[in-house]
Amino acid sequence: MTKQSGIETQLIHSGQGKDQYGAAISPLYDTTTFSFEDTAALLAAVESDEPAVFYTRYGMNPTIQALEQRLAALDHAEKALAFSSGMAAISCVCLTFGQRGIVCLGEVYGGTASFLKQQLPQLGMSTRFVPSNDLVPLQNELAQGASLVVLETPANPTLSVTDISQVAELCRKAGAKLMVDNTFATPLNQQPLSLGADFAVQSATKYLGGHSDLTAGVVAGRASDLKKLNEWRKNLGQTIAAEVAHKLLRSLITLPLRVEKHNQNAMQLARFLSEQDEVEAVNYPGLGSHPAHQIASKQMQGFGGMLSFTVKGGGDAATRFADNLRLIKLAASLGGAETLATQPVTSSHHGLSEQELNQAGISAAMIRLSVGLEDVNDLMADIKQALLKSANE
Ligand code: PLP
Repeated sequence: MTKQSGIETQLIHSGQGKDQYGAAISPLYDTTTFSFEDTAALLAAVESDEPAVFYTRYGMNPTIQALEQRLAALDHAEKALAFSSGMAAISCVCLTFGQRGIVCLGEVYGGTASFLKQQLPQLGMSTRFVPSNDLVPLQNELAQGASLVVLETPANPTLSVTDISQVAELCRKAGAKLMVDNTFATPLNQQPLSLGADFAVQSATKYLGGHSDLTAGVVAGRASDLKKLNEWRKNLGQTIAAEVAHKLLRSLITLPLRVEKHNQNAMQLARFLSEQDEVEAVNYPGLGSHPAHQIASKQMQGFGGMLSFTVKGGGDAATRFADNLRLIKLAASLGGAETLATQPVTSSHHGLSEQELNQAGISAAMIRLSVGLEDVNDLMADIKQALLKSANE
């Protein structure tokens, strides 16, 4: 395998070392520490610039290193670091690179928003929020001084799309770094680093893990930036566990197959929902009706498995829809094989004021779907029967 090999090949073979038995897949090194023949060998490991084994929390464990090589290949990055969760990855980038101020552009995942609003100001860090539909407020904030911009596209749960290249250019001119949360798209559908971002982050709990059975995060970017980030990860104790790294290594092998099917099923469901009398509007970047469809088509290779829609009849009708689903599960999270539905006002955006919801473009009638890998006809049948009940009760 070479760096030019196709991504399917790299996701099977990259990070695959040779052990003494010729194991066909990377073995799990389920150990917290590694021993050395003598002090010279120990010092050589500690002082090495190349991947070396030493202590698992430092990330100096062959299973974690194998995963990080595979994750770097996925993002076409110089380097990737694996974390214990998506929030561990996001918080570490903010703490390491946001010390001269963070600007959050548009809607972001609720955990990221509350970290920026509630926790970082307690450390004396400046965090500011600007809309993503107009870049002038961002320029104004950057002119005031900031070292990090946080962007999520497509964003949760509105599926709004922001032009990454345009934002990256503004950040570059202002000397700020750009972190893009690429969880919804995955690197197979969108490559933030190739579009000029400094950090591509993901909750690997979602599509990368893909089976709703692990919690992890990833940051990909330049080796020099990730060297700094690693110092924080190490001392904050945010490194992925070796057992989870091993599980994630396996999941990555099938990522291209899964993402292709997620893309197909979501596109079919988005079209189907657009034709239903009980549905007011559908938000999916792949639909021509999406306000940023042109931008999405330019920067995405596929439109992903996430969509949202509003049902006619308001919040009560949306709750009836959610309560009447049979195959599709009512649950938070996303990116698994099973289709999940949420009503954002009762879950991710619960407790927000009317004004905050309006600003975020979220109504009580909105349903978010993480479209899974089932036969799409079964999903359509479940949605149709729940829509009929939402309208009739
Ligand atoms: N980013 C996005 C877009 C998410 O949806 C989530 C979780 O739902 C996270 C980050 C945080 O990920 P984790 O739960 O792995 O910490």
